[in-house]
Amino acid sequence: MISQTMQQRVQSVQERIRLACERVGRDPSHVSILPVSKTFPVESIEQAVSLGFSRFGENRPQEVVRKAPLLQHLDVQWVVIGQVQTNKAKDVARWASELQSLDRGSLAEALQRRLEPLERTLDVLVQVKTSPEDSKSGLPASELMPLLRQLEAFPNLRMKGLMTLAVLSDDPQPVRDCFRMLVRCRQEALDAGIDPQCLERLSMGMSADLELAVEEGSTEVRVGTAIFGVR
Ligand SMILES: *Cc1c(COP(=O)(O)O)cnc(C)c1O
Repeated sequence: MISQTMQQRVQSVQERIRLACERVGRDPSHVSILPVSKTFPVESIEQAVSLGFSRFGENRPQEVVRKAPLLQHLDVQWVVIGQVQTNKAKDVARWASELQSLDRGSLAEALQRRLEPLERTLDVLVQVKTSPEDSKSGLPASELMPLLRQLEAFPNLRMKGLMTLAVLSDDPQPVRDCFRMLVRCRQEALDAGIDPQCLERLSMGMSADLELAVEEGSTEVRVGTAIFGVR
């Protein structure tokens, strides 16, 4: 078997997004791709930069701290998508441009405290738990509104939307249900008067389930293996 190039893999992800959009009458330009480079070397990231990507998703703040200085010659923006311990807030504040896995007020507070002296801002997405699986982190939906209210007091955090990880299942229905729940959370927050600008983005869908996410309204899919290969 001839292995595909990264460019071919990116094209096939774009094609999958295009077809999913077509099925539900969405404009594919409203769905962006966040390449997830966790565990891959900086050479792979450089290759993806040459294909036009500039934002990269990483799970662990420590990995951003290691890779960011090696890529400072490129205009790379780091997006943290994994659970962050409070003692890693300073690394996120220093190196990341965005955090998609904000799941508690105490972390928001720690980030605000670290960002202010650096005169930096951080885009944030709140990760909502939509899957019944214990291992899936995220904020319970019932705690979303209080956290959104709390974030209004943190000027260095720019609230941009919501993120979720769907249940792992071969059956599409429970996966779709997770994405629908995130859409519902967004609508409830809008109905409760949260500024629509704070809820513009819905980060949902990964290599295995991106079609379902796009059909349900995802504005950005986080794609690791389908672009970089198996980890
Ligand atoms: C690893 C990871 C992804 C990408 O997963 P793939 O299956 O490799 O596409 C997306 N989101 C989060 C939160 C991840 O940790």
